[in-house]
Amino acid sequence: MEKATKQQTKTHNTRLILNTLYENGSLSRADIARITHLTRPTVSSIVSDLLQDNLINESGIGPSAGGKPPTMLTVDYNSYNLLCLDLGGQQLRGALVNLKGQIIDQVSTKTHLTKRDKALDEVFELIDNLRTISKHPVKGIAVGTPGLVDPHTGVVQRAINLGWKDLQLAEILMDRYNTPVWVINDSQATALAEYKFGNINDAANLIAIKVGEGIGAGIVLNGELFYGDGFSAGEIGHLVVEEQGSLCRCGNHGCLETIASTRSILANAEDIFQTRPKSQFSDKPTVDWELISEAIENNDSEIASLLNSTGKAMGKVLASLIANYDVNHIVISGQIAHLGPGWLEIVREETRKRALPEMVDRTAIVFSSLQRDRVILGCSAVILQKELGIM
Ligand SMILES: [Zn+2]
Repeated sequence: MEKATKQQTKTHNTRLILNTLYENGSLSRADIARITHLTRPTVSSIVSDLLQDNLINESGIGPSAGGKPPTMLTVDYNSYNLLCLDLGGQQLRGALVNLKGQIIDQVSTKTHLTKRDKALDEVFELIDNLRTISKHPVKGIAVGTPGLVDPHTGVVQRAINLGWKDLQLAEILMDRYNTPVWVINDSQATALAEYKFGNINDAANLIAIKVGEGIGAGIVLNGELFYGDGFSAGEIGHLVVEEQGSLCRCGNHGCLETIASTRSILANAEDIFQTRPKSQFSDKPTVDWELISEAIENNDSEIASLLNSTGKAMGKVLASLIANYDVNHIVISGQIAHLGPGWLEIVREETRKRALPEMVDRTAIVFSSLQRDRVILGCSAVILQKELGIM
């Protein structure tokens, strides 16, 4: 019992020191002791273990405070790789990420996912490839997948696009690779990426809305993902925002997804353009975001009305998120950013009509500053948190 407690204390202190170095960049042993309130001998002993593990480096000599100048320490960001997968698209993607959240190498499946039973084989193939090309030891594997995931057991309870039901993904991968594995819902991964690597500084709470084929939200409270009792917190795509609206794939009518998902916006825009003379878009086989952006710039009235209806639908849902969670930061990601700042203004106006204006006014609703690797980066944040205590 006493031994277990000692070990727990040591693990806790190790994570504390690593996180302190991660946040501060470069510190001496004395600096670490001062910041963490740990004793000098404790710091020295743990630092020597971290040096042994190559997680940190002695990076030079610091300024003298009167006596012998101190040796400075920094995290060795390239000592390990984090192996991260994004199973959200038609093409499965994987990447090696260093401890600073920088993508070192990427791979993707060559063919689009057509046969559902092949999805697991393709996951193996991605991981095998990444392990082969990794020049550093792999600290952990994290998988971001659409669908319902139990993050504690790593069981994918349901992922329709991959054909998975109650798949014990973490266990399968741990057995195969003998490495810690984390499985997380992709919207939740996106929220962690925004928290850790986005341009929102010092926010303990935020909500990230991921708009793609579906719409999901990830909720970060006090620096940690909030999953909910059934791990589905943030499943906002199927909130009904329009009575008598279009039929949704869930069986209901008028869900947010039927109005504001990528697929719905493109389909509705296509309906608009199809009534137009061919010359306006004849050089393009289908409607895409570029065409929509162009129409917005030209003040196209029908596209403006499409922006209005999608913005209002999103605003309805954001109002209830703001009322429920009182977060000051909502980050929206996906191709929907092509709708531009004018669309965000419509969202904000609608939100203001439906929640206490004081609450809405202190909430920033912005597009994501991260590029398309949000799920991958979120996966790297999971490994940093769970394996190394880097929050
Ligand atoms: Zn639905």
